Amino acid sequence: MKNNFEWKYSPAPESTEHIKIDPRYDLFINGKFVKPLSKTYFETSDPATGKMLASMAHANEKDVNTAVLAAKTAYDKTWKKMPGKERGKYIFRIARMIQERAREFAIIESLNGGKPIRESRDFDIPLAANHFSYYAGWADKLDYAFPNRTPKSLGVVGQIIPWNFPLLMAAWKIAPALATGNTVVLKPAETTSLTALKLAELIRDCDLPPGVVNIVTGFGNTGAALVNHSLVNKIAFTGSTGVGKLIQKSIAGTSKKLSLELGGKGAHLVFDDAPINQAVEGIVNGIFFNQGHVCCAGSRLYVQENVASEVITKLKARMQTLIVGDPLDKNTDIGAINSEGQLKKIKDYIQLGKNEGLEIYQPECGIPTKGFFCKPTLIIGAGQSSRLVQEEIFGPVLSIQTFRTIEEVIEKANQVPYGLSAGVWTDKGSKIFNLTSKLRAGVIWANTYNKFDPTSPFGGYKESGFGREGGLHGLQPYLSF
Ligand code: NAP
Ligand code: MG
Repeated sequence: MKNNFEWKYSPAPESTEHIKIDPRYDLFINGKFVKPLSKTYFETSDPATGKMLASMAHANEKDVNTAVLAAKTAYDKTWKKMPGKERGKYIFRIARMIQERAREFAIIESLNGGKPIRESRDFDIPLAANHFSYYAGWADKLDYAFPNRTPKSLGVVGQIIPWNFPLLMAAWKIAPALATGNTVVLKPAETTSLTALKLAELIRDCDLPPGVVNIVTGFGNTGAALVNHSLVNKIAFTGSTGVGKLIQKSIAGTSKKLSLELGGKGAHLVFDDAPINQAVEGIVNGIFFNQGHVCCAGSRLYVQENVASEVITKLKARMQTLIVGDPLDKNTDIGAINSEGQLKKIKDYIQLGKNEGLEIYQPECGIPTKGFFCKPTLIIGAGQSSRLVQEEIFGPVLSIQTFRTIEEVIEKANQVPYGLSAGVWTDKGSKIFNLTSKLRAGVIWANTYNKFDPTSPFGGYKESGFGREGGLHGLQPYLSF
């Protein structure tokens, strides 16, 4: 199928002239950047070009210990005694400063993570700022959030985040922790620590009391050192189900609290009474934008049999118009895959589809020859038990199956180990309510997809984890009663 459009967009790359990336970053501990005791550094690069961007400190157990002690002192001496109203002012200040520096954050996020500038500019960074604003508002209202109970902060919380939404996940973690009176040691993901370090600069500049937020970069045993530190009272983790299970095992028998936001395999259900054109747009938004690097991505599509050929035809036509390329170009729909390892994992799954003899569809678009890129891909007709339907691919790959009845599709949608998200496309409100009560997913969107707001809780069922982030519910994991 050919692209209907004869014309092409001219390149519109965002300028990187006004951003500043230091050649080397140290650890952010007790309000200052300090050299790592490990004396070692690792490099971080741009996945779209392979270009080295900076080197950063690799925190070892001793460095993590220094950070936790700083957080513990800040908790005991300053933060836990500070009235909520005063804490709130600092959190609001962080929100405002992110807004002021939004452009810089967006560019660095796209440079280091590979996501299109449109996503980082319009989604990640504004939503990160909103999260801080929203939780700032709760800081002095905890007694109203939990009437007739006595909410108490926990102490030092260790927070570990993945590479798909680096700044946004840092905001999801730090904002509620500070609002509830806890202090933080955050470990960003190995490949995408730059915006967290920029956030550290901002936190230093906003005069937050030293030690309230500490940011330790690293990989390998850095996260485990944080999880296992005896002065850490709570762990908040977002990442793979495998590491989530490891963490759960390693803190079993301790009094540490835990919240886990893990993988997903979101089901997108399209019924024959759905607005098909909008549904196609929602499907594309749900899996292809952001390279499918989204835990709540709609990576399984179930289409009612009598509209399947229409939906698939329109989906293929829409995919022909998607632009895969330079993440900093404002026209780009699909940027770079975050790392070589992740690209290999995605390609292995596509190969598996070929080996299973399934129909694989990719548009004719070109992709850059350098860097890590993958075309948007449909895998049509995989059986429910196929690994392509059961496992999280975390790339721009959508499996498509058909269904006849509502009972059948509910069973299929629920028949995976995960339960994070789902999407429902139908004209009937009654059908939506029926489905939302039966689908085992933490978030269900109706006639839209991937919409977020700081006021609404997010989290999973089954192997997608437990605990909620966002909204009033997002305060609870950081409090004891
Ligand atoms: P991951 O290994 O679970 O990493 C997530 C975070 O945990 C990173 O900061 C990581 O550090 C850290 N970590 C790794 N091992 C740890 C341990 N034993 N104890 C404590 N912390 C530890 O995820 P990934 O390697 O980045 O991605 C693997 C897969 O996870 C992806 O292919 C995808 O399927 C899934 N994933 C899910 C989400 C989500 O939002 N649910 C996000 C990203 C990835 P390092 O980066 O330094 O290893
Ligand atoms: Mg890892």
